[in-house]
Amino acid sequence: MSIERLYYTDAYVRTFDARVVTCAPVAGSSDDARYAVRLDSSAFYPTSGGQPFDTGTLGPAHVLDVIDDADGAVTHIVDAPLESGTTVTGTIDWTRRFDHMQQHTGQHVLSAAFDALFDNRTESFHLGADTCSIDLAKEVTAHDIAAAVDEANRVVWEDRLVTVRFVSPEEAAGLPLRKEPAREGPLRLVQVADFDLSACGGTHVARTGGIGIIVVSGWERFRGGSRVQFLCGGRVRQRFDLWRDALQSTMKHLSVAPQELAGAIERLQGENKQAARALRTAQERLAVVDAQALVERAPLAGDRRVVVESIADADASILKALAAAAASHAGVAVALFSAVPPSLVVVARHSDVTVDAGAVVKALVGRFGGKGGGKPDLAQGGGLTGSTEDLRAAARELLAR
Ligand SMILES: [Zn+2]
Repeated sequence: MSIERLYYTDAYVRTFDARVVTCAPVAGSSDDARYAVRLDSSAFYPTSGGQPFDTGTLGPAHVLDVIDDADGAVTHIVDAPLESGTTVTGTIDWTRRFDHMQQHTGQHVLSAAFDALFDNRTESFHLGADTCSIDLAKEVTAHDIAAAVDEANRVVWEDRLVTVRFVSPEEAAGLPLRKEPAREGPLRLVQVADFDLSACGGTHVARTGGIGIIVVSGWERFRGGSRVQFLCGGRVRQRFDLWRDALQSTMKHLSVAPQELAGAIERLQGENKQAARALRTAQERLAVVDAQALVERAPLAGDRRVVVESIADADASILKALAAAAASHAGVAVALFSAVPPSLVVVARHSDVTVDAGAVVKALVGRFGGKGGGKPDLAQGGGLTGSTEDLRAAARELLAR
């Protein structure tokens, strides 16, 4: 069943009247009702050719999806039933549609620029809610990108006519189309005056000036060629605002100009690494002093001195440094816990003590949960639950054995 596609000849139709040919509930949509509507004519664009569908209203119903059917018809999925044979007014969500027109026409111009300058053809096009991209057959350099964007914007700012015409396949065969047409039968050709000629079923602005501006936001190697992300018109303005706010707040923190940001961050990272190294050294030195104090006040248990403590504000590396420093003293077995459960534990012993640190951690984990293990001279665990008193008592008993 054929339908008159109003956007084929005029992409600027925002409202239209059409007759409801059929309206049927969509199977399996009992929760929120969905109806499939076919009209005798429509300005709603169905998802196809890389461009998403239009939204808007049909009479009292909201249009939730528009599908390009295999038989040449268009199905509108709506949220309320419409009566067959009646006339309804369709209204396109123009903000969404015009955005698609800007991105789509910009894609024609950008693709044609890569084609003209570098013989780099566009294999596919994606128009998403956040990003648009083209996949190019060849790899690109930063120089290629800059040159193609310059050329594309020159064509935008010359405000060239964008026209549509229909031709037979025979006629199309003799024309310099940028890409061989994918479909058979009569072809819809979209021409950017003296710049691009492609077969396309999408919606486009009437003059290139309507694209506003074309920018490339990023690119990467992709399947032997490249994927180029771009933005046109209103999306450039929105992205500029987003990046401006992000950049301004970052610049405020670092007190540098945008072009100095990368260097400033690199410097900060270097300083940060140095500070971390200095902190580690200081912690190790402090651990030697603190460990000395821990050993001195630890009770004797037979032939060994058993050091068992909860250390406030200690992470695993501090516990480890302290335990290792304590275990450097002859005759010492040590178990150190973090002060707040679930607890970390580090167990260590001097080489002259027969306790197996790994076995002690395993025994603690067996009783208090968590996980851990290690070697006979140094082991650690984490996630132990239970009061710090119970943990310390158990460790004292295990280390004294
Ligand atoms: Zn197009």
